Amino acid sequence: MKDIRIGHGYDVHAIGEGLDMYLGGVCVCKGLGFIAHSDGDVAIHALCDALLGALALGDIGHLFPDTDAQWKGISSLILLEKVMERVHSLGWELGNADITIALQRPKIAPYVEQMRLSLAKTMGTEPERVSIKASTTEGLGFVGRKEGCQVWASVLLIK
Ligand code: MG
Repeated sequence: MKDIRIGHGYDVHAIGEGLDMYLGGVCVCKGLGFIAHSDGDVAIHALCDALLGALALGDIGHLFPDTDAQWKGISSLILLEKVMERVHSLGWELGNADITIALQRPKIAPYVEQMRLSLAKTMGTEPERVSIKASTTEGLGFVGRKEGCQVWASVLLIK
């Protein structure tokens, strides 16, 4: 019997003008992006927290504090790479990851396959193990008012 761990992550970022919007390692919009210390890739942040949560390693705010200048404007793919290094160094492999992105605009369906490829490559796994689902909130709440984006991620790790 293999040892398995489940992890869950959640993140929110506000939308601001004059920024590029990164989700799942892909630029999905120019001129409207997420306000953050890093590139604001809220999908990767939730995914990193799910991976860290599965192994009770804290969260990305703890690993990459926004008071540390070395993480300013950094691509979140690099943060994911570093988190996966931790996961692999402890002998764990990704079973699968499932991510749900709630965003009113822009429509991200055209980018989902590119995001899966980008995340799978960075995590050293096959795209078949990485799921990304997109939803609007039917105009309700802060997502519906186009003020922000909300992401939930679940992962399974196998040893
Ligand atoms: Mg974040």
